[in-house]
Amino acid sequence: MVGVVSKPDTHEKLEVLSADAQYDLACACSCNKDEHRQRSGDGKWIYPITLPNGGKSTLFKTLISNVCTNDCKYCPLREQMDIYRCSLRPEETAKVFLDYYRQRKVFGLFLSSGVLGSADATMDKLNVTAKILRKKHGFRGYIHLKIIPGASDAAIEEAVSLANTVSLNIETPGETNLAKLSEKKKYIEDIIEPMKLISSLTAPGSRYARTKQTTQFIVGAAGESDAEIVKYMYGLYERLKMHRVYFSAYQKGLGHESIAGEQVTLERPTDVFVREHRLYQVDFLLRKYGFAESDIAFRKNGNLSLTVDPKEAWALMHPEFFPVNVDRATRFSLLRVPGLGPVTVKQILERRKKRRIRCIEDVGKVGARLEKARKYLAF
Ligand code: SF4
Repeated sequence: MVGVVSKPDTHEKLEVLSADAQYDLACACSCNKDEHRQRSGDGKWIYPITLPNGGKSTLFKTLISNVCTNDCKYCPLREQMDIYRCSLRPEETAKVFLDYYRQRKVFGLFLSSGVLGSADATMDKLNVTAKILRKKHGFRGYIHLKIIPGASDAAIEEAVSLANTVSLNIETPGETNLAKLSEKKKYIEDIIEPMKLISSLTAPGSRYARTKQTTQFIVGAAGESDAEIVKYMYGLYERLKMHRVYFSAYQKGLGHESIAGEQVTLERPTDVFVREHRLYQVDFLLRKYGFAESDIAFRKNGNLSLTVDPKEAWALMHPEFFPVNVDRATRFSLLRVPGLGPVTVKQILERRKKRRIRCIEDVGKVGARLEKARKYLAF
């Protein structure tokens, strides 16, 4: 009897490659911890995302290949893993994406890949796919391209010219932590220098100013602390003008259980997801609330509290700052009040131009958030 091994078709490959893309969240995938790991029911390569205006949409998200010559210890796709490997050709990726786009099932494309031989050979496949869409099909919609660590300046510039967003994952804070996770990736050369290049290529007033740069940390893979992550995150926003920083909790079972030969005590799965959530809260405080790195309180172990959110932790450490007078306080002061977000603060500032705010009910419908704010406010 002769066995016939059939080649996987495009959809079979997409089943595998899209599932493998789920760990990369640097594509505006919803930051809600329950949502961002889900895919839609009908198309398994469609992921929910949050748009820049806060609206929801869906992204066609896949790897072009899960073949990888790298050795990142946290990654289920690293070379040493015995998994089913396959690759898509740029033409078939573009075609299947356009089918979905024309049916209005997706808003845009997120394209990443394992390292197929060399960084530039991989970048070429990503860039060619984007070029087919842009030049051959006149696609003007959203494309997010992954930048492969170690890619040449020319390959990076081409990706920046084709994409709306590019991302190179920083993975972990600092050279020492990265050395625990990979013997092949070089922190400065392969990650930081390319990020700086993207930052200069996309600076305001430059040719590609409309292209955004994002990145992602893997939380809990290198034994790093939240304080280290926050320090690097702050630097990415301040110095490199990063558009967004994302976080992905390291999930036990996907990678190593020892780093640099030492057994690692992995955090309880719930703890690492809470860490991820707290880091997103800090990210919001830095980007939207005027907090600085020095305003963030850490526990003795360098991590954020698992039980108190970082804004309330700051308020508890600064009793002299409260109560804040609703009728006279600046926007900055109101944004320091636990329970008040930018939208509520804007409403307060508008309402008080017309009349005095005499009680919490004048601020809005009292739910859990305003109940929390009440004790920090004076009327
Ligand atoms: S480069 Fe590292 S993180 Fe990316 S696919 Fe390869 S092993 Fe995984």
